[in-house]
Amino acid sequence: MARSTVHLHNAMPHILLITISWLLLVATALAERPNIVFIFSDDHACQAIGAYGSKINQTPNIDRIAREGALFVNSFCANSICGPSRACILTGKHSHKNGFYSNGLGPFDGSQFTFPQELQKAGYQTALIGKWHLISEPTGFTHWDILPGQGSYYNPDFINKQGKRRIEGYCTTITTDLALDWLKRRDADQPFLLMCQYKAPHRTWAPDLKHVNRYADRDIPEPETLFDDWQNRSATLAGNAMSIDRHFYYAYDLKVHQPVPFASDREKELKDNEYRRMTPAQQKAWDAAFKPRNDAFLANPPTGKDLVRWKYQRYIKNYLRCIDSVDENVGRLLDHLAENGLTENTIVIYSSDQGFYLGEHGWYDKRWMFEESLKMPFIIRWPGRIQPGTRCEKLIQNIDYVPTFLEVAGVDVPSDVQGRSLTPLFAEPDSDAWRKSIYYHYYEHGGEHQVPRHEGVRTERYKLINFYSNDGFDLYDLKKDPQEMRDVADDEEYATALTSLKGELQRLREQYDLPELSATVSP
Ligand code: CA
Repeated sequence: MARSTVHLHNAMPHILLITISWLLLVATALAERPNIVFIFSDDHACQAIGAYGSKINQTPNIDRIAREGALFVNSFCANSICGPSRACILTGKHSHKNGFYSNGLGPFDGSQFTFPQELQKAGYQTALIGKWHLISEPTGFTHWDILPGQGSYYNPDFINKQGKRRIEGYCTTITTDLALDWLKRRDADQPFLLMCQYKAPHRTWAPDLKHVNRYADRDIPEPETLFDDWQNRSATLAGNAMSIDRHFYYAYDLKVHQPVPFASDREKELKDNEYRRMTPAQQKAWDAAFKPRNDAFLANPPTGKDLVRWKYQRYIKNYLRCIDSVDENVGRLLDHLAENGLTENTIVIYSSDQGFYLGEHGWYDKRWMFEESLKMPFIIRWPGRIQPGTRCEKLIQNIDYVPTFLEVAGVDVPSDVQGRSLTPLFAEPDSDAWRKSIYYHYYEHGGEHQVPRHEGVRTERYKLINFYSNDGFDLYDLKKDPQEMRDVADDEEYATALTSLKGELQRLREQYDLPELSATVSP
């Protein structure tokens, strides 16, 4: 008895050591393979996010990710339009390498390398819920449930492997419901990737009924450049078709469903598709909010600048109401992670496919290489790996997500991936060993909003835009002119900067293996 006690006594440290080692191994393996929740919206500009200093709204739940993680204030897309930005995110490559140049030139080739396929091979469960917009069937997902095309705000159709069905309710809430359903029924023993992708706040900005009266009793501040005349820059700017003044449709965009006597014939024809999808009960609730406001507008319609101001208010309030739903649903996702012990080992990202003009330069929409649509939000929380309240000013781009995700999942990054892993910036947000410029290229020419094909380079101080299809170079000094109101390409004072930036643009074209620029032929 005494003997065996001694033996047991001697063995105890070994058993303890083995147990501790095993626990450490498990802990390390878990720490090395975090879950990833990628929350993605559509057209959500940084100017409408509290953490980015919004002057027009509050986003407490999105801000919570920033407060508990990192805010990247110089995060950019590579091609500022829905489908192409998504293709860059999936492949880690610029448009000329992933083949998805513009929304009209699909479908996305899902047989090429994408990070969800790699994570799936590495043992991750992968799910995609919500807006996809790449035409082809998603690849690399254990489960997917997507909106057809742009999807609808009201009573949306969803498509999965079993087919299409209509789900009654509001799209942002339903997308979250479907994401939470999947989280609850996934295999808890495997790490997971969840891409929860909202349609909101994309045009045509149809808010949830519970939010239709928000902001009704006050004016939203106007941007300083609401009445931009597009002078002192490339002449091509003045040819745009995305102005708040002239390019909104009363029913489709501004939700005036009563006849508007001074509307153009096109405006009179173009109906609000979201309203048409509503049930009679939904329409009744909608009318109760909007009809009295529309009647008041039509009884005494403003003119000139006051009409622009009225259109801005109608537009921005609906846009912000759509974001209110996104923010609430981000909160639901965060709460679910917290309630299920998933906060610690889950990377949470909030991003959107590109920025948007919220009246700046007199515009709505995106596409141009100007700051408001070039930037995209990138907020990330990773407990234990990113210090709460981190702010990073380094230049990052949507092609960087792939190498980041692969690295955290322990998967090798193929050499032809063009982005860089962001993990060094998690540890050292001020690192000097980071890129000093980003490359941008928008390929659609003309189209609905008359934005020309252009490319460019942005550094910490400057931006050089090459309107190669119809004009020359514009140079902006972002330090002296953050609102990009004056092209200084012809100023003697900037001759050295111009030469240097043209050299940097050429260097980036070579680095990313760009083909010859083509002004007229479709890529
Ligand atoms: Ca978009």
